Amino acid sequence: MPEPLRIGVIEGDGIGHEIVPATRRVVDAAIAATGGPELEWVPLPLGADAIGSHGTPVPRSTLEALTDLDGWILGPHDSASYPEPFRAALTPGGQIRKHFDLYANIRPARALPGTHAMVPDMDLVVVRENTEGFYADRNMAVGSGEFMPTPDVALAVGVITRAACERIAHTAFDLASRRRKRVTIVHKANVLSKTTGLFRDVCREIGTMYPSVDVDDEHVDAMAALLVRRGGDFDVIVTENLFGDILSDLAGELSGSLGSAPSINASARKTMAQAVHGAAPDIAGLGRANPTALVLSSAMLLDRLSVTGNPFLGGAARALERAVAETIGDGIATADLGGSASTSEFTAAVVDRITAA
Ligand code: ATP
Ligand code: MG
Repeated sequence: MPEPLRIGVIEGDGIGHEIVPATRRVVDAAIAATGGPELEWVPLPLGADAIGSHGTPVPRSTLEALTDLDGWILGPHDSASYPEPFRAALTPGGQIRKHFDLYANIRPARALPGTHAMVPDMDLVVVRENTEGFYADRNMAVGSGEFMPTPDVALAVGVITRAACERIAHTAFDLASRRRKRVTIVHKANVLSKTTGLFRDVCREIGTMYPSVDVDDEHVDAMAALLVRRGGDFDVIVTENLFGDILSDLAGELSGSLGSAPSINASARKTMAQAVHGAAPDIAGLGRANPTALVLSSAMLLDRLSVTGNPFLGGAARALERAVAETIGDGIATADLGGSASTSEFTAAVVDRITAA
């Protein structure tokens, strides 16, 4: 008898109250259909709800509960709507990411059949280093990486460390070894030769430990052009924080819609499933939100949990991805994908396909 599986669940704000319950329904169905163990959801307050109940968007008790879990799903947060002083702080998801040092932001870009992707054969994953580079708020080494010596001069410090390059490179090569076995390292070593040059060199070094994986590297500007021209040729792209932010948005857009772009934030031990999109306050509560991004993020979470001791969860992840692709391929989709299904109609159609398989 397998151990019961415990997965944390944070609803978040806005459409989180619609897409998170929808995702739970779909994951429950996929695990049941593939003969998985009992699944226990652990609901945890974070965001607007937590301000009401705990007087802070990020309660200590939530952080403590997450410490005991290997994985959780995170609904989107609309921190711009919080009262001061909570508005100015890093988003609740950002604080969780920082607290647990979730250094790898993994964002697949795969065109779903039946959607109008600009690069229909795209099937790649951007592995973005999530803790350093030129993003001041995430910068572990220098605290605040931006400063102004005079009102008319602004400076930013970028930090790249060997240790951070090594761990993100392992994430990328390990992933590629289970996919089409190709890693493209993205840098700008002709200009930022010390920082992104170190990133490139350390990734190359780690690559020698994965002889089955082919490696090449590109400058970030060339990479942007290549994604548009022949985005179908790439498998895993590994890059530093800022470049990864930009390239993953580009790849996401070329391969489909915001409502279907999944991601996880992970360390070696913890995985947080998180849709790329935000809380979409403009459509919150209207029953029109597309749960696809969070559902596909949850499939990525199940895949990671399958590696660490629950092998059958890979089957549940595949069942879930197949059912989403079939549903959209059959023309059942929410408005953001040009369809007319509500969140609950779409969710029910996905669950039907899982159960029927
Ligand atoms: P954030 O700053 O949190 O990233 P944002 O301002 O970038 O938020 P989103 O909340 O991602 O914005 O929404 C951008 C647009 O995409 C909005 O019009 C929103 O309605 C739409 N959108 C985002 N996610 C979904 C979804 N899951 N289903 C349908 N439409 C969505
Ligand atoms: Mg956004």
